Parts: sequence; C-alpha cells; structure tokens
Amino acid sequence: MLKLKLHWQIIIAFIVAIILGLTIPQYADYVRWLGDLFLRALKLIIVPLILTSIVSGVTNIGGAQSLGRLGLKTISYYLMTSLFAIITGLILVNLIKPGIGADLGFQMEVPELTAVSGGVGNIVMRIIPTNIFSALVEADMLAIIFFSILFGYFITKVESKYSVFMIDLFNASFEVMMKLTSFIIKFAPIGILGIVTGVVADQAADKSKLLNMVEHLGIYMLTVLGGLTFHAFVTLPLILKFIAKVHPFEHLKAMSLPLITAFSTSSSSATLPLTMDAIENNAGVSNKITSFVLPLGATVNMDGTALYECVAAMFIAQAYGIELSFIQQMIVVITALLASIGAAGIPMAGLVMISVVLTAVGLPLEGVGLILAVDRILDMCRTTVNVFSDTCGAVTIAKSEGEILKV
Ligand code: ASP
Repeated sequence: MLKLKLHWQIIIAFIVAIILGLTIPQYADYVRWLGDLFLRALKLIIVPLILTSIVSGVTNIGGAQSLGRLGLKTISYYLMTSLFAIITGLILVNLIKPGIGADLGFQMEVPELTAVSGGVGNIVMRIIPTNIFSALVEADMLAIIFFSILFGYFITKVESKYSVFMIDLFNASFEVMMKLTSFIIKFAPIGILGIVTGVVADQAADKSKLLNMVEHLGIYMLTVLGGLTFHAFVTLPLILKFIAKVHPFEHLKAMSLPLITAFSTSSSSATLPLTMDAIENNAGVSNKITSFVLPLGATVNMDGTALYECVAAMFIAQAYGIELSFIQQMIVVITALLASIGAAGIPMAGLVMISVVLTAVGLPLEGVGLILAVDRILDMCRTTVNVFSDTCGAVTIAKSEGEILKV
C-alpha cells in the first residue's frame, strides 16, 4: 500500500515538474535546490553502499566455486546484453546513416575532452587501484568493486574467529546502509520534482536553440532513441520472458521508481540505492544476489551507453565523410563495449568516453563537439536503459539460481 503511494507520488511529481519547467522556467531555481539535496543524499550513500554490499555479497555467496559461478553468469549476461545493444545500434546507424550530410558548422567546443580521454589500456589499468583510500575518496567504482570482491573473498579464507566477525561486521553495515537507503527514498518525490523542473526549465529556456538542435541532429537522435527503444522493449523483454521466465510488464512496473530516477538524474550510480531497494522488495530477489549483481551492474553493465557509443562514433565518421571498413566497425564494437564498461555511472560520462572509440579508429576527437548539444536528453534515455538492463540481469540470475520471485 505504502509502495503504491510512493509510486504515485513520484509520477505526480514528475508530471508537475514538467508543467512547472515548461510554464514558469524562470522560477525553476525555487525548487531546483530540492533536487540538488536529494542527489547529494544519494551520492552520500553510494560508496559505503557499494563497499558493504559487495563485501557482504561475496562473503555470503559461499566459497570460491559459487562465487566463480555467479561471477561468470553475471559477467556473461552483462557482456551479452551490451553486445546485443551495440549490434542494434550498429545496424541502425548503417541503415539510417544519420551523419551523411550533417552540418559540421554546428560543432561545439568540448573543453574537458582531452583531460579525460584515455585509451583502452587506461580502462584496464584503472581496475587495480594503487591506493584504495584515494579510490574511495574519488568514488572510482571499478577500483572499489575490484578491491571489495578481493576483500570479501579473502574474508572467507581467514581463521573462523576472524571471518565470523568480519562477515557480521559487513552484513551489519550493509543492513544499516539499506535502512538509510529506504529512508532517503522516501524523499524521492520531492527530489524528482526539483531535478526534473530544473532540467525541463533549462531545455525550455532557449526554445529556438532546441529547435535548431532538432533540425540538425534530429535523425541522429532518432537513431539512438530507436535503438534504445528496441533494446528496452524487444531484446530485454525477450530475455526476461524466455530466459528468466519473468513477466516483462510486471517487472517493468516493479522497477518504475528506479527507472524514473535514472531518467531524471542521468546517473546509474545515484540510482543504485533505489535499484537495489526495488529489486529486493518489489521483485523479491535475494539479498545475496542483489548485493553482488547490482553494484557491479551499475558500473560495468551499460547497454544504453554501449549502443550510444557505437552510434555516436559512426555518426561522427559519417559526418566527416570517413568510410569505416568492416574491421574498423568491429573495432568500434569492441571499444564501445569497453568504453561502456569504463564509463562511470554519472551524467555525461558516456559522452567523454566516446574519445576512446574515436581514438581507436583514428577519428577526430573534436567530433564529439557535433553531438554535445543533444547529449542531455540522450543521456537521460540511455541511463534508463542502463538501469533497466541491470534489473533484468538481477532477476535473470536470481531465477537461474532457483529463486522464487514476485514478478
Ligand atoms: N549517465 C550514464 C549512466 O550513469 C552514463 C553515460 O553517460 O552514458 O549510466
């Protein structure tokens, strides 16, 4: 009953925010701070939540064999769905060719690009931190995940008087974090009201710019959105129905809160607390699977971003009149996958990671400036798909482990 209420509160907040943002954008700042506060609260809990959930998840999985099996399943699901997404994008971008004849004069400067752009090797290197404390301070998720898995695994390898204590400690901390999460989630309607009003007001403030953007980049946007829609409404539901044997619509309904939050915040990491709550309480997945699969997914599994990386890189190549060979397109596929794995679950991370793909096939980095204008809306949509795929992964893996779910 209470859940249903929150669910409706969020939907109402979302609609009210759109109306406010469109009708009185000049007053958006009066509510924007509510969204900022909510986001700060979510960010506050991400690092301790990931650390405690993965360590407690790994210790509860029960031995190297189960960890290996679950890890393998999780990674296979993540790689498989991301590849499906990329291939969907690749087919669409080759069919529609949105970049041919695109106006290069529309290009914008992207100052942060060179600072962040790193090669494929950089992504792999970043997995092993040299200092776990600085990784925690910088919220470097791949590094935190790597350390947490190792730490959790070796807790099970020490003398039982120590391991019992450590397992209790991490289970208890995780429980506390989940309680804190549930508390923060109660503020979601107010937070979403603030965030969405701000975003809509920003976009609506300059209507002529918006129209101009759509005119220049409309087909590109449609290609990305078409691919995302296909992945979210065809590929993933098919996996849910035939592999997980879960009712896709019921699952979608159960996940509405994290999905709306992902759309509003453009951040899988900020949404993670809500995703974990919904997967445990609405879908009925065990704590053991939730706490291992979802934190990993929020960082590693980004189907929407993977598809976007591929379409964007191909669009840039087309716009510059550069024909990519089959081999080069395969390099785009692989690097798009790596870029999506390496992208942090924060707004615009995917845009910056395109530089990895562009570098790999020798395309000009400034090309990113072509698509900057429409990144926000595409970010909202790809983040929603990223989170949806994580939730599909959690139920698919739970089912494969013989769990009885509510969806
Ligand atoms: N914003 C996305 C996410 O958090 C990442 C991206 O920019 O593609 O999932």
